[in-house]
Amino acid sequence: MSAVTPLPEGDLAQLPTPHLATDLPGPRAKAAIARDAMVASPSMGRVYPLVPKRAAGCVIEDVDGNRFLDANAGIAVNSTGHCHPAVVEAIREQSASLLHYCSSDWYLPIYAELCERLVATVPAEMGAAKVFLANSGTEAVEGAIKLARYATKRQNVIAFFGAFHGRSLGALSLTASKSKYRGGFGPLTPGVYHAPYGDAAYIERLLFEHVCAPGDVAAIIAEPIQGEGGYIVPPADFWPTLRRICDDHGIVLIADEIQSGMGRTGTFWAIEHETVTPDIILAGKGIASGLPLSAIIAREGLMTWGPGQHGSTFGGNPVACAAALATIDLLEAGLVDAARALGDHFITGLRALAARHASLLDVRGRGLMIGLEFADHDTAEAIELACYRRGVLVLTCGPSSIRLCPPLVMNTAQADIVLATLDAVLGEMAD
Ligand code: PLP
Repeated sequence: MSAVTPLPEGDLAQLPTPHLATDLPGPRAKAAIARDAMVASPSMGRVYPLVPKRAAGCVIEDVDGNRFLDANAGIAVNSTGHCHPAVVEAIREQSASLLHYCSSDWYLPIYAELCERLVATVPAEMGAAKVFLANSGTEAVEGAIKLARYATKRQNVIAFFGAFHGRSLGALSLTASKSKYRGGFGPLTPGVYHAPYGDAAYIERLLFEHVCAPGDVAAIIAEPIQGEGGYIVPPADFWPTLRRICDDHGIVLIADEIQSGMGRTGTFWAIEHETVTPDIILAGKGIASGLPLSAIIAREGLMTWGPGQHGSTFGGNPVACAAALATIDLLEAGLVDAARALGDHFITGLRALAARHASLLDVRGRGLMIGLEFADHDTAEAIELACYRRGVLVLTCGPSSIRLCPPLVMNTAQADIVLATLDAVLGEMAD
């Protein structure tokens, strides 16, 4: 395992940031946005007119030379910071020797190496585990549902209101964060039932009682901290009750750790904050620091599908695997602990802000997965935009929240800039 490689002195990551050289958006950004509008799918709801050109650590420089401090990490993806030298070197080295050879049809040692490393990270109570590598979080969700159906010979799945599990038709059937994600795309996959997030008792009290026999349920899928739904930490009894229900009825328990996993919450997996072991853990986003990769990690006794029953042309691509191995090295060499420490620093600072600003109604989270609650969506959106105008990148989530999910390499000086920016914005909005 390599030590955390320091970022080179004097590079972009070290330059004073935020630094605004033009009005926002600048002239080059405006031109890029106009060009994009001519050809790119209008389905993408861009949040503010940011046009990155290069990035390092927690600093993003746009096409006009403006520098932004990134508290988004490309939505919890750039876990080791932008272009960490160790990740870039691993990608460079791997891409010079083997770009692709379909891992579903032939053997790649780097694929097995990554599976071994992932298996070593899951809670010991999971026992022996096996891994399928895919390209995106959505694909991991789809594969996990297929696996649960295959293993149980049952059809139904229970998910939660507010959940985001992806946008392909199967994953979209589980997603219930915003109705516009689903509107116009039906019929979705039948046999999906939703319960209120955090209320596991609802499953037995209402779903099993009235609409869905437990013996028909293949899987319950939940996020350890609900991401897109508002960075919501569930009550302490939520996961233990889900586990008990699954044990009582032979149901597969899936922890969707696509946003919460890979060290973000100060433990390798967010489920480690609970006293519960799931049957399947899904990883994505931060797993390869920005290259497309995801993983289904399942108890060995569950992953019983046979040759040809599931596969992927690009899943477990060797370059993405190399980036993931370098990412895991960095996480294990200190970034998971760093996320926990900086998360505590953030929460303390944010609670102090909440004491001064009545508009900040709640601060919650674990590690560097932190949600700030406001009265309504318009307020959260206005804060998001005001931060961008001051050169700090944050993002809304849920009905009325801002999320902070910075790269795990963020330092306390940078965290203090994010806090000072929020302080200034909240003060300005109260005036
Ligand atoms: N699951 C969770 C918890 C997510 O947050 C996301 C994406 O935001 C997904 C699944 C889907 O991942 P992807 O966008 O990589 O397909």
